[in-house]
Amino acid sequence: MIVVMKPGATPEHVQHVVELVREYGLKDHVITGTDRTVVACIGDKRMVDKSAIENAPMVERIVPILAPYKMASTEVKATHSQVRIGPAGFPIGGKKVGIIAGPCSVESREQLLRTAEAVRNAGCIGLRGGAFKPRTSPYSFQGLGEEGLKILAEARDRSGLAIVTEVIGLEQVEAVAQVADVLQVGARNMQHYPLLEAVGKSGKPVLLKRGMSATLEEWLLAAEYVIDAGNRNVILCERGIRTFEDYVRNTLALASVAELNDKTHLPVLVDPSHGTGHAHLVPAMCRAAVAAGADGLLVEAHLDPERALSDGAQSITPAALAGMMPVLRQIAQAIGRDL
Ligand code: PEP
Ligand code: MN
Repeated sequence: MIVVMKPGATPEHVQHVVELVREYGLKDHVITGTDRTVVACIGDKRMVDKSAIENAPMVERIVPILAPYKMASTEVKATHSQVRIGPAGFPIGGKKVGIIAGPCSVESREQLLRTAEAVRNAGCIGLRGGAFKPRTSPYSFQGLGEEGLKILAEARDRSGLAIVTEVIGLEQVEAVAQVADVLQVGARNMQHYPLLEAVGKSGKPVLLKRGMSATLEEWLLAAEYVIDAGNRNVILCERGIRTFEDYVRNTLALASVAELNDKTHLPVLVDPSHGTGHAHLVPAMCRAAVAAGADGLLVEAHLDPERALSDGAQSITPAALAGMMPVLRQIAQAIGRDL
């Protein structure tokens, strides 16, 4: 349920409600809006004496939260959230659309530093690259691990870009969080609940990819795990789902962007690389994602896609990345945004 405070309620009034809520064994999340504050209360409400809370000073009313994903829901927070990432604190979820690009995997120091420069020059705000890779085959390149993290840290120091990198296991959360500006939880781990709780406690923004067979509700409930663990800085990333279709690696479900913008206040990115599997489809899907209202894009870009150690077929070149920016900017401006 949500306790809606009257406009003008002081921090003391809010604190009084928080204490009442805690007495009933509920978890409180205070959300301060522009004109009023609400206290979202999560837990078993059967034993709660609602009238006691309703009659507390400066309480306007109590409303139930109907969505199963409570904290992620627009019922609790109607205005869209911003998540600030990287050394420059770029706001994902604001007026500006943020583009994050880079290789699927960190392959070498030279590769990543050169890519970082190209990505920054193209006007991106973040650099992606996996040090730990979740690969379908145990014989495929598994990433450089700790060495990859060091390279990512150097790339951030030199470029000022926000570093987005995946954490695939519980035991890596601490090490990855020391380097990453954004912890990526991949499609295969979207329902790895202990990992969601661990990244929720890490203090770093989390990029939560959609599981390849997850419904929107399952995805938002996964986000809820991260928020419930104490981390409101969750960014969702649509990366396509498994269907019968086989001209693409995954079917990029772009309607999810519009639906999510209605159902949740969390920012939404689109990954057209995993969402199609083919570099030649990526620019068109980037354009479509921005038009659909995505807050940003996560794009795989490689200096030499033919020789990439992972996901070369869906990686565009830095030149192609730079080439699509002007039209993405025009599309963003056409819908009242910027890039
Ligand atoms: C990736 O971003 O390289 C990746 C493995 O993505 P996903 O989890 O969406 O497959
Ligand atoms: Mn990849």
